[in-house]
Amino acid sequence: MKIASVIVDVPAKQTDKPFDYLIPEDWTETMQPGMRVIVPFGPRKIQGFVTEIKDKSEFKQLKEIIAPMDLEPVLNKELLHLGEWLTETSLCFKIFAYQAMLPAALKAKYEKKVRLAPGKEVAVLPSSLQAIFADNKKLEWEEVLKSGLVPLLQREAAKGHLEVVYEVKERVKKKQVKVIRPLFPPAEIKAEMERLPANAEKQRQVLDYFIEHQDPVEQKQLLTIVQTSPSTVKALVEKGLLSEDEMEVYRDPFENRVFEHTAPLPLTKAQTAAISPILKAIEAKRHEVFLLYGVTGSGKTEIYLQAIQDVIDKGKEAIVLVPEISLTPQMVNRFKGRFGDLVAVMHSGLSAGEKYDEWRKIQRKEVKVVVGARSAIFAPFENIGIIIIDEEHETSYKQEDMPRYHARDVAIERAKVYSCPVVLGSATPSLESFARAQKKVYHLLTLSNRMNNKPLPPVEIIDMREELRAENRSMFSRKLFSKLKDRLEKKQQSVLLLNKRGHSSFVMCRDCGYVVNCPNCDISLTYHRAGNRMKCHYCGYESNIPNVCPECSSEYIRYFGTGTQKVEEELGKILPEARVIRMDVDTTGRKGSHEKLLKDFRDGKADILLGTQMIAKGLDFPNITLVGVLSADTMLHLPDFRSSEKTFQLLTQVSGRAGRHQLPGEVVIQTYTPEHYSIELAGMQNYDYFYQREMMMRKIHHYPPFYYLVLVTVTHEQLMKAVAETEKIVNYLRSQVSNQAVILGPAASPIPRINNRYRYQCLIKYKREPNLTNVLKKILDQYQKEARNGLQVSIDVNPFILM
Ligand code: ADP
Ligand code: ZN
Ligand code: ZN
Repeated sequence: MKIASVIVDVPAKQTDKPFDYLIPEDWTETMQPGMRVIVPFGPRKIQGFVTEIKDKSEFKQLKEIIAPMDLEPVLNKELLHLGEWLTETSLCFKIFAYQAMLPAALKAKYEKKVRLAPGKEVAVLPSSLQAIFADNKKLEWEEVLKSGLVPLLQREAAKGHLEVVYEVKERVKKKQVKVIRPLFPPAEIKAEMERLPANAEKQRQVLDYFIEHQDPVEQKQLLTIVQTSPSTVKALVEKGLLSEDEMEVYRDPFENRVFEHTAPLPLTKAQTAAISPILKAIEAKRHEVFLLYGVTGSGKTEIYLQAIQDVIDKGKEAIVLVPEISLTPQMVNRFKGRFGDLVAVMHSGLSAGEKYDEWRKIQRKEVKVVVGARSAIFAPFENIGIIIIDEEHETSYKQEDMPRYHARDVAIERAKVYSCPVVLGSATPSLESFARAQKKVYHLLTLSNRMNNKPLPPVEIIDMREELRAENRSMFSRKLFSKLKDRLEKKQQSVLLLNKRGHSSFVMCRDCGYVVNCPNCDISLTYHRAGNRMKCHYCGYESNIPNVCPECSSEYIRYFGTGTQKVEEELGKILPEARVIRMDVDTTGRKGSHEKLLKDFRDGKADILLGTQMIAKGLDFPNITLVGVLSADTMLHLPDFRSSEKTFQLLTQVSGRAGRHQLPGEVVIQTYTPEHYSIELAGMQNYDYFYQREMMMRKIHHYPPFYYLVLVTVTHEQLMKAVAETEKIVNYLRSQVSNQAVILGPAASPIPRINNRYRYQCLIKYKREPNLTNVLKKILDQYQKEARNGLQVSIDVNPFILM
């Protein structure tokens, strides 16, 4: 009998190791590492991942695996191994590491069925299976397990004849599209075409299309190809030459678009100098990390595209990571335009079913390139030739829940296995990466000029305190207002950025200053205009706005802060003629709405695009000549040592949106702290100065990249318990680490209570502590045992959010 080592789905310290199970006789040949199984565990039946298959076990009286969950492995050997590394470095449970690598559809309880793989005929199957899968029939998983056919099905799946589908019930409503089809064969259409009046040129072009193509086509797509209007098509339908039908499709913002094919551009001297070390590493099959440091518009993406082409030509695969908010259709188009159907796209806008489909394409080796947000780093490729991380400084590459991994670290780990290069690209690299490049750990590649050699737009910094002194209480400075008005008259477009992080609207009493807080968490409730309610962003608590102040009974209790809605209202007052598109979490919640708003703006349907961080990236429209930042410093005051860095990056990024094309652009930054170096240097667009200045601060205060950090957070319902336990941990840590390490705490977390649990923390700063991982594991171990007392301890290695 063969034996399988299984990581079971019981996230706990004691179960964070493989358990041995007997493989039922029938499956000995087809069971493989990376498949999921159902196993008995105590009185329960639970899921698990097979990590190894072996002949012997040191344990006697093994139980048998109850049922398989997959026909094919869902994790390859390399990913199984990566899971161990992830567990070790991020201190998570193995089961979490493996689950993080899979699309959600595989994790949840969806209806699972086996069917013929796309494009396969039933005749490829052994005769015993043919009747089962004839006529597109699917076999329910329950039936599969009862049928005793598992090994046979697994063998057919391995040959690519069968596949598993997850029938995910889509929450999004199905969309209807118009589909046009010809009613006659090409020859007859041709004859009809000649009978059309001479001035019906457009109709002739449409018919021309159907002489070439007999398949039905979505009306929208047809109109794009032929460049005509629905009325042309309608005329032909009325003449009885074409028919139109309504068809149901799933919403997919990237589907059915015609991608214009693009050819590689001849590279400039600077680009050639930057790409050749990358190509050399690809050629030599050498792992190396490159930091491609180039201002926005300096031609980084073209370098990515050509490096990927080289990798594809060598029969290998590429992973491209892009921050979620930059994963715009524009961005995706550039990759689809170059590599067409070889590209899979993974982003949060896709439904679980669509994500699974993209993942399957990767697994089936139908695509060579995946473009996606953070989790795409786990794409199940097996012959990776390059990994690219665009905007590498983005903090969204760090996952905040278990496993708390940073995509950059995972990229480097995978690239080592495949002996391939990693390219990190940014106009404002993270201090960590730039410091590594300075120390020659990374290979620095620089693009100093924009492609069009256009200078970066001039930036003007406005001191809002001066505005107040001049009796201007509006959120718009006089300068920004007059420039907005000027653009309106010139029919040019403006972008207004409201830096919302840490600056949401709250409800406050004007008389006594009382702020309405969440009863469960020590944080103010956020005002939501929809329904005129207040919500807690941490625990979800909701309530109505009180009519009178609970403190002093004053009636002057209102919402405060500059939400995008409020800016929109004010714009309506001071520039009533301006057409405004607002982009924030409220207006972009629906699938595809983000894309639609941007398209409307590009098509000139608005004069001003107003939004939060999400508009700072990727926008590249020729008519934008003014960028205004309403509140540059809101982020500066957050209790986060990276706040200066984040402010600098955001301001630099948004400034890059203006004047990218023919028309020159300018930038206005409003702030209450114009003297702060991150604002001053963002105004000068001088990354190198900023880097030096910020490195000095980090050195003085013992922060990364000079020191590593670990954040330990302890939570309990009783304040005293949380404090006492944090103190114990601090003492224990002090006894275990060298005297070079700094341990701060116990201290209340910046948000001292969430959901009625008090939160205390300690921060470890260290340079080299070889024993620290073990010490931290011991702490987790110990507290897991005490979890029954209601104590929770979490450890974040290299934290990005210090709250
Ligand atoms: P980045 O990724 O650094 O922001 P892009 O790669 O988007 O820069 O390049 C900016 C613009 O310059 C794009 O419109 C791109 O098509 C164009 N471009 C890039 N490389 C070349 C080249 N070698 N020749 C001509 N145009 C180029
Ligand atoms: Zn009051
Ligand atoms: Zn709350």
